[in-house]
Amino acid sequence: MKSANSYIIVGQGLAGTILAHQFLEAEIPFEIWDSPSTHFTSSQAAGGIFNPVTGRKLEQTWLADDLFPYLFDFYPRLEAILGMRFFYPMPLFRPFANQEMKSWLVERKDQIDHGYLRWDSDGVWVEQAGWVDVAALLRVSRAYFASKGILVESEYTGSQAIFCEGFHGQQNPLWTCLPFLPAKGELMEIASNEPSEQFILNKNGFVLPLGSQHFKVGATYGWKEFTNETTPEALEELTKKLVLMGCTQFELVVQKTGIRPATQDRRPFIGFHPNKQSGIFNGFGSKGVSLAPYFAKQWTSEILGKTSVHSEASIRRFYHLFSV
Ligand SMILES: Cc1cc2nc3c(=O)[nH]c(=O)nc-3n(C[C@H](O)[C@H](O)[C@H](O)COP(=O)(O)OP(=O)(O)OC[C@H]3O[C@@H](n4cnc5c(N)ncnc54)[C@H](O)[C@@H]3O)c2cc1C
Repeated sequence: MKSANSYIIVGQGLAGTILAHQFLEAEIPFEIWDSPSTHFTSSQAAGGIFNPVTGRKLEQTWLADDLFPYLFDFYPRLEAILGMRFFYPMPLFRPFANQEMKSWLVERKDQIDHGYLRWDSDGVWVEQAGWVDVAALLRVSRAYFASKGILVESEYTGSQAIFCEGFHGQQNPLWTCLPFLPAKGELMEIASNEPSEQFILNKNGFVLPLGSQHFKVGATYGWKEFTNETTPEALEELTKKLVLMGCTQFELVVQKTGIRPATQDRRPFIGFHPNKQSGIFNGFGSKGVSLAPYFAKQWTSEILGKTSVHSEASIRRFYHLFSV
């Protein structure tokens, strides 16, 4: 994983990019290799939303109280370093699905309530939500790494590296024993004057305002095929979601697809191979934007011998699956 006292990071998607920035801050030397022409980059399709609330019961996401304060510190600092805006805190509104669900939730408000929720008559507002323009972050970071002479635009075929290969990681013989569970996702960008530009609407999907009456609408989940081809079925599903969120008049700008590098236990894969000079920083599923900064910091600190990666995220939990 080290050549001439320098690490090799494989992959400049969201995971590799954020790990690279943490290495730069910690002054750990590295090169970053990336090959989108042979291995497509799913981060380019991401909605980019960060949202500390999940599920029908409005629960806090895993480690929300650690992840969210950290990301509100991390992304603005990175914007200052890179000289570009890509972090957009924004209110997120979750309307009640129907009258029955509203009654169910309101009756249990005392048990459900937590610091990220603000209750309204039609739904709940989620605090500390927003979105990251992931494509912009990757583009400006790529130029930054190139300016420092640490970007290698080529496929990496060796084994001594830190692999941030996204869903392609499951084809890497080093990691085939890890329980990946990738999920294809599609979203569309539209132009419309119907949705609000003031907040992210989240109702069995999302409508995310990009400015100038442009919006991202997402997202689908599929487990049957893992190409980077968009499909008419997803377009139909996204259009139905949009109608259910109250938007009927729109113009399709572009449809995008990617594969979420999800895992069976819904936790990341972080750490070093038990028997080889190889590492992995992967498995961020549908939450790369909120998970990657915190865990890149934790792993960097572990590499420097200071702290350990959270036991639910470390690949030590799967060491028994690796053959010697
Ligand atoms: C439709 C959709 C919507 C999403 N919405 C959200 C959202 O709202 N919020 C959120 O947090 N997350 C979202 N996600 C998930 C998010 O996109 C992922 O968590 C994240 O992008 C994963 O990044 P990654 O770097 O692990 O993988 P990738 O982005 O796939 O990056 C992997 C990189 O590694 C390179 N690579 C792989 N193998 C090699 C090799 N051998 N040599 C050289 N380079 C290599 C590839 O070229 C690529 O650039 C969404 C995903 C999809 C598909």
